[in-house]
Amino acid sequence: MNQQTLLLKYLEKIVNIPSFTEEKKAVNKVNDILSKILTNLGLKVFRYPHAQAGDLLVAQSAMRSGKKIALLGHTDIVSLPHFTFFQNKQNKCYGNGVADMKAGLIVILGVLQKLKASGELYNVTCIFSPDEEVGSVAHKARLHHLYQKQDFALVFEPGLEIQPGDWPKKMWLVNQRNGMSLADIEIFGDGGHVANKIINRNSAIEEMAYKIIHLHKLTQAKDGILLNVGLINGGQAPNVIAPYCRASLDLRISSLGQYNILRKKILHIIQTNHLKVTSKITEKMFIPPLELNRKSEKLFVLAKQYAKENDILLINSRRNGGSDANQAGFLGLGILDALGAVGANLHSDKEWVYTRSIFDSIDFVGNILSSLQK
Ligand SMILES: [Zn+2]
Repeated sequence: MNQQTLLLKYLEKIVNIPSFTEEKKAVNKVNDILSKILTNLGLKVFRYPHAQAGDLLVAQSAMRSGKKIALLGHTDIVSLPHFTFFQNKQNKCYGNGVADMKAGLIVILGVLQKLKASGELYNVTCIFSPDEEVGSVAHKARLHHLYQKQDFALVFEPGLEIQPGDWPKKMWLVNQRNGMSLADIEIFGDGGHVANKIINRNSAIEEMAYKIIHLHKLTQAKDGILLNVGLINGGQAPNVIAPYCRASLDLRISSLGQYNILRKKILHIIQTNHLKVTSKITEKMFIPPLELNRKSEKLFVLAKQYAKENDILLINSRRNGGSDANQAGFLGLGILDALGAVGANLHSDKEWVYTRSIFDSIDFVGNILSSLQK
């Protein structure tokens, strides 16, 4: 069996496991298959279990002096009501999670094979998160610890075809991603019967209404700032002045500077009450935006060089959604993301990748890695 056929066999095997984030056993089945292949490639494999999530899988090559490079992937896929199995038809591979990001995992395996064959398999650490689709929270502390030992992180989220026909002559790489924050807002009032207290009422719902309008006005879509209160509940009955109201805020930002300014404005809105109530905000989650740094720019220059030699137009782009790159970039690593296979219809039963893009990416990344290690 030649190398490409073997890699497609591996792809079929791992796509056919419905490794939805919350299906710990299924995620670990993918880990079992990968562990075996990585061990056979001569890497040292470590697995870190977790009570609720799948194992964090780490595989390390031999180390020597020089830049340390992480290859980031995830073994989970987004949960869907019906599972679609693997199919290889004409020039595409189909199946749930094939693009996001099981084909990306295969690209990593192919890159490792390539480096091994050329005697350049060193200073590489593969890090596979079992719960990336929910923000890689289970192993967060260990992930940070691992990221801090690296200089660069290559991330194998799918490449996307922004315009049909772009691939294979145009490639959209990602080195900027928006960040997000989730917060709960709570308002407490003194309540009371509407008939007795209608003058001077201090309704938690009314106060929340003022706050939502002020919060939404902070949105500046062209600068990547989005605020949305998407969930609200409160009150007791139509004839009772609402003593309590709770709302959830989703904030998207494109830079940390923006976030710091917005955070102050949001706190000011929450603390400034129109009525005699008390207000509270609780930050539930924060994913830092992925911003450009000098190391990321260096990676892009290397990628551009290879692209030019191969007559590919490389485009530097930003994505709205986050990936493991956000946390790694926040810790100062140079990042290049969207190095997985090129496809579309992520998180749906029509997900696919161009089969050849898997092998193109292997050549592309193999080349960048060799240059980085020189
Ligand atoms: Zn992904």
